[in-house]
Amino acid sequence: MKLPFGFYDKLRDTVRVSEIVGKRVSLTKKGGEHSGLCPFHNEKTPSFTVNDSKKFYHCFGCGAHGDLIRFISETQGFSYKDAAIQIAQDNGIEIPKVTAEEERKYEFADRVKHLLEIANEFFVNHLNVQIKNYLEQRGIKQTTIKDFAIGYAPSGNELEKMLYEKGFSEPEILQSGLFGKRDSGRVYPIFNSRIMFPIKNSFSKIVAFGGRAVGEAMPKYINSPETMLFKKSEIMFGANLANKYFHKDNYAILVEGYMDVIALHQAGFHHAVASLGTSVTQSHIDKLWGSCDEIVVCLDGDEAGKRAANKIIQMILPNVSSVKSVSFIELPLSCDPDDLIQKEGADAFAYYVDNRIALSEKIWRNEYVGKNFEKAESRAALERKFHLYCSEIVDKGLQANFRRYFNDMVWNNIIRRKKGGGIHNASLSEEVRSFAKYSEIEFLEYAICAFLLYFIEFVDEESLEISLSEPKLEGFKLHLVDYLNNNDNPKFESLSVNLKNSRFSGVFELLSKQKNLFLRDIFVNKLEIDKKAFLHWLCKKHYLLILKNEYVELLRLDKASLEVRLSSYLQEINRVSVELKKLSENFLVR
Ligand SMILES: [Zn+2]
Repeated sequence: MKLPFGFYDKLRDTVRVSEIVGKRVSLTKKGGEHSGLCPFHNEKTPSFTVNDSKKFYHCFGCGAHGDLIRFISETQGFSYKDAAIQIAQDNGIEIPKVTAEEERKYEFADRVKHLLEIANEFFVNHLNVQIKNYLEQRGIKQTTIKDFAIGYAPSGNELEKMLYEKGFSEPEILQSGLFGKRDSGRVYPIFNSRIMFPIKNSFSKIVAFGGRAVGEAMPKYINSPETMLFKKSEIMFGANLANKYFHKDNYAILVEGYMDVIALHQAGFHHAVASLGTSVTQSHIDKLWGSCDEIVVCLDGDEAGKRAANKIIQMILPNVSSVKSVSFIELPLSCDPDDLIQKEGADAFAYYVDNRIALSEKIWRNEYVGKNFEKAESRAALERKFHLYCSEIVDKGLQANFRRYFNDMVWNNIIRRKKGGGIHNASLSEEVRSFAKYSEIEFLEYAICAFLLYFIEFVDEESLEISLSEPKLEGFKLHLVDYLNNNDNPKFESLSVNLKNSRFSGVFELLSKQKNLFLRDIFVNKLEIDKKAFLHWLCKKHYLLILKNEYVELLRLDKASLEVRLSSYLQEINRVSVELKKLSENFLVR
């Protein structure tokens, strides 16, 4: 029995997965999902979930995954098609008769699929030692060659002859995408002396091929043209393998080429897929968002890669939300994921994945880095651009957050900077700082000195190692170090007398007047604070601000060679931010 086109989709749309699964597995509903004990592996606590809106089931324990048809097929041992027929019959869904024309189309498509399998076998058999060595030199292991069924298309018409001998017709041969036809009527092979990568659909059926030149021959890559089986805007290389990892880890890595996908899979990044010789389309994005919430876009570090990333931003803005997101990996100039893994290893790529750049930051970088905003006009133009980006976002909550982010970034990096030495990411009370007219780092340094003055008995050597950027405060701190070295019983009162008679009397005056401001939490808010932990928090916060300052300075230079340094800054900033957060939970005495 044949099923008409689109029937599988119709089943998925009309019958809920939870209804089908619920007959065999006892499910409990929690939020938008159902969960229960996995029927595919032994377990005592449920890790098996069913999501009706995403139309799939997924087990976090064993990775079992599929739609309602797959479920019946796997649990009852039916073929996919028979499972679909079973579901239709059980649910009273009529299976429309396949028209004669549809029937012919089906048969033709089946023949072409069969032809592609035969061709792939042919290519695999022609993978000689020389090509295997070449692939190995490029870091592709024997097992990977097998997993991806990589082959080789020799020159000549051997394959064509074989296909005719096996009874394939010329329309079938042409529809395979492996051959072209000249005006003279002669059929010729598209792939000649090329390494062949079968491109599979999500059912792991070959629908096309990609061919890579051996050595430096041009063009380096060619793909099958579009055929009845191969729609470039829909199919992604590696999706058949990556799918279950999308669900498991809730993200996908989108790269440019199949060599990247292969290198990434081999290095353990099974979430990688590539769009094929075309730019990324909305249909690719929708497919990926259908399987996970975050798409990590990792294009080559060249100009073309940057342009492609910008196109993606424009395309996705209306559809991003607080749930469905896109982030970016910026590789060093003229480097693709394959190169990076070859040269620096899998850890290097893992680092980039961990430190991927959020969409908001990516937009900020694109518009800000390496440009000059001295003039009011250029600042206005920049703000207008951010406004336009934000207006594209339909999700209201996300839009509001993007606006706030860009406003903060403009304020901290351009406006405050003009006022002298500002820094972004304020966390000391904005009200306090604007009143005191200090940049965040100045304010913090005064707060540290005020603390050293009032709570000198809590000061330890570690916190005195800090180096303050304001010269007179650094001098003040060194004076305190001297005082500590010469006093066994340090106290605020005796220190005050000492300072009043020193060249730091001015600083002392200011700090005693401003004590309410600089140590507001202690003196005004009267919080019970663990003094030692608070001092460590102040020093760490100071370190973080210095890091951020230096990071922003590097960003402004915009040199490709700085990428690695920038990354290590980001890593350190993240690390210190986490530590700070922990400390801040500690210094309040409960
Ligand atoms: Zn399971």
